[in-house]
Amino acid sequence: MPVGMTTLQLLFLIVFVLLLQLICGIGVSVWRWRNSLSADAPSTPANASSPAWPYWRNFRITRRAFEDDARTQCSFYFEPVDGAPLPPFKPGQFLTFSAPGGPSPLIGDGGLSGPITRCYSLSSRPDPANYRVTIKRAAAPAAFPNAPPGICSSYFHDRVQVGDIIKVKAPAGQFFLDADPSRATVLVAGGIGITPMLSMLLWAFAEQPDRTLHLFYGVQNGAVYAFRTTLEELAQSHPNFRLHVLYDTPSPSDGEGLHVSVGRVDIDLLKRTLPDGVAHTFYVCGPPAMMESIVPALRAWGIPTSDIRTEAFGPASLRPSVSAPEAGPFDVRFRRAGRSIIWNGQDASLLDFAERNGVEVDSGCRSGSCGTCEANIVSGSVRETQKPDYEVRDGHCLLCVSVPTSALVLEA
Ligand SMILES: Cc1cc2nc3c(=O)[nH]c(=O)nc-3n(C[C@H](O)[C@H](O)[C@H](O)COP(=O)(O)OP(=O)(O)OC[C@H]3O[C@@H](n4cnc5c(N)ncnc54)[C@H](O)[C@@H]3O)c2cc1C
Repeated sequence: MPVGMTTLQLLFLIVFVLLLQLICGIGVSVWRWRNSLSADAPSTPANASSPAWPYWRNFRITRRAFEDDARTQCSFYFEPVDGAPLPPFKPGQFLTFSAPGGPSPLIGDGGLSGPITRCYSLSSRPDPANYRVTIKRAAAPAAFPNAPPGICSSYFHDRVQVGDIIKVKAPAGQFFLDADPSRATVLVAGGIGITPMLSMLLWAFAEQPDRTLHLFYGVQNGAVYAFRTTLEELAQSHPNFRLHVLYDTPSPSDGEGLHVSVGRVDIDLLKRTLPDGVAHTFYVCGPPAMMESIVPALRAWGIPTSDIRTEAFGPASLRPSVSAPEAGPFDVRFRRAGRSIIWNGQDASLLDFAERNGVEVDSGCRSGSCGTCEANIVSGSVRETQKPDYEVRDGHCLLCVSVPTSALVLEA
């Protein structure tokens, strides 16, 4: 017994130590249990097939900054709320976001649909502390001036502020820079299609400073030329980086400059500019008109399909060359919605088919990238109209890129 301590005091000391151990033990167990339940903890580095974390993870916006003079393209920087380091991603990959929905024609009376899902390419290079995406405000198309503006891009531009929490899925996508620096690489971007290219450039010049890279970047005019300072600095500091910026409708104040000329990014420009006799790998991301002209022209020029990588930013960006949809008739049952409808080959996908018939199903990118419309096939079979970026689980299909090839029962 310690000197000067009574039996009663010793008893108190022992009980106190035991209590302390008990409290610490409970604390550690609770912490472990919470972590084991958490869908947020990153596990493996991002790769093309397994996500670095399942489902949604909370991030806090730390900064926002416009990237063009017209203030139509805004970068959002964000870090994980859980503070755990971020897994690396492949330059060119995208993140998937959840945002409050917009007016829904299926609900009526101005009702809002449930949360919507959209994908945005990472525009930064891999960094364990934060991510950056750059979002262009989607205005009503010229052909439909009275259409509502884009829901998710407006939400980010108008509502999302520093300190706000957003929900994000792990990096994904098959459109990323080949790590082999010996391949001469040509990046072809139109408008906001610059985002994955910028990530590729930033990564390449940090990791492979001598790599040869060409960037052909088509924009309307100088006001919407995004990341001008960054691109000019890269061009100045890396002699193997060739920057070609093309204004298709320059404003009177837009002059031609060191890297800037007037015109369009087309196959003639590529043929004129790229050195003969060098095998190039092409990465193309831009608006539908650009993709639909350049990609077939590259093939016609003799570039092997494996050397043409593309990213479509929306369902209409690059229509897959598919045979006619299956004609049917097939009975398609959406089990959760309790609806059976006859498929007769009118629609390009099961997603279009469901929506046209008023069956409410989740959807996101509508181009096989985000996995939001994945549905379990209870019975029957489907055909994919294009190879999805998202890795579909066995026995499931992505409604946005699938058509039925028999009678079908879906858990949707
Ligand atoms: C892999 C991938 C990566 C992407 N990366 C980026 C990126 O880095 N940056 C970026 O800005 N975008 C990117 N996108 C595009 C992005 O995901 C969204 O598609 C885009 O922001 C538009 O979404 P929204 O919700 O704002 O517009 P939506 O609400 O989906 O509307 C789209 C367009 O339709 C118009 N519209 C709405 N209703 C009607 C109607 N009734 N009739 C006619 N027109 C109508 C809207 O005005 C708008 O122009 C990417 C997409 C994919 C698939």
